[in-house]
Amino acid sequence: MKITKINGRLTVPGNPTIPYIEGDGVGAEITPVMQAVVDAAVTKAYGDKRKIEWKEVLAGGKAHEQTGQWLPDATMDAFREYLVGIKGPLMTPVGGGIRSLNVALRQGLDLYVCQRPVRYFKGIESPVKHPEYVDMCIFRENTEDIYAGIEWEAGSSEARKFYGFLHNEMGVSKVRFPDTSGFGVKPVSREGSERLIRAAIDYALAHDRKTVTLVHKGNIMKFTEGGFKKWGYELAEREYKHELEEGRLVVNDCICDAFLQNALLKPRDYSVIATMNLNGDYVSDLLAAQVGGIGIAPGGNINYQTGHAIFEATHGIAPDIAGKNIVNPSSIILSAVMMLDYIGWHEAGQLVETALEALFQQGIATADLARFMPDGKSLGTKEFGKHIIEQL
Ligand code: NAD
Repeated sequence: MKITKINGRLTVPGNPTIPYIEGDGVGAEITPVMQAVVDAAVTKAYGDKRKIEWKEVLAGGKAHEQTGQWLPDATMDAFREYLVGIKGPLMTPVGGGIRSLNVALRQGLDLYVCQRPVRYFKGIESPVKHPEYVDMCIFRENTEDIYAGIEWEAGSSEARKFYGFLHNEMGVSKVRFPDTSGFGVKPVSREGSERLIRAAIDYALAHDRKTVTLVHKGNIMKFTEGGFKKWGYELAEREYKHELEEGRLVVNDCICDAFLQNALLKPRDYSVIATMNLNGDYVSDLLAAQVGGIGIAPGGNINYQTGHAIFEATHGIAPDIAGKNIVNPSSIILSAVMMLDYIGWHEAGQLVETALEALFQQGIATADLARFMPDGKSLGTKEFGKHIIEQL
């Protein structure tokens, strides 16, 4: 049965069809473990009233082998039709006109929010003294900015043409070495900024998180990053006037370099972060590292207007450890927890999160984490999955 979005609300049947991409490299190991854990948690939480019907769709190496295409139309159609899905990591094909399969999926479905919750799990070793002070949810804009991929290589005819336009038509004389410069364009729109910031504010209000911080570098890039900040404040004043006046919401901003410092020095000052694509990339990794969770950080790519969402393991295909039953499945499992929350199956998600934390506290984990834990006990990927299920 299909999940649908009607009058702005997700309608989730008891047996929703969820398309999934197994993923390349370690994908074949982590994805079945994630499915087994989710199925067990759903049964534990709801008995036989609810059950996910998994539907495999192809992308990456498996798709190329079976269909000759890296991202078959049928895959995009399934995500379009069933609304909510999940994926393992995908390789980046060399040649073939696709820059990145992940980017193609995000752009194809206009998944404009990259949502990354960052919290500390007791038992995980972290490089900072108080990792538990970090409890933030990052809303990273996913479709615009310098990441839009509008760029030209130094020395190419396109770069020369582009510079010619800048110089001759726009009177630009600031490019220091025009003949050897590559050029990139940084589009940041009001609509794009507003929909991202609106999603961040709605999330904050729905989750009793008071503060939304706009992270930008608007002091230097005045009309792009500065625009983001300005449009963010204007949106808050226009659409959330009551919440601001009642003190249920605070919108503030921070310049990105200061934010990176503050996030380390006084992380308790921050809760929900709204930022552009490139800043969001840096901020996500910094915060994940602070909680020792770079390998277990979850993520989702979401269009809150249409309801389309693809949750994903945030790490890559880890070719160096693929096939060895040592990969940590926690990133895709926690992304599945986000997915369960997104469809309103909070109880099942909570069971999984609690079980994982209980295991980490006992020093039980895959080798990447267990080796840093005092008295840590390393388990293989499959065995770790079985332990999570037993712990539910
Ligand atoms: P990577 O995340 O695959 O690996 C970096 C290191 O971390 C490796 O040593 C790997 O063994 C380890 N690692 C990663 N995930 C782990 C896990 N779950 N458990 C234990 N160890 C883990 O990054 P990379 O080497 O830069 O990229 C390899 C490939 O993956 C590239 O083709 C890249 O394009 C692709 N990639 C895909 C995604 C995605 O699909 N979302 C993200 C990043 C990279």
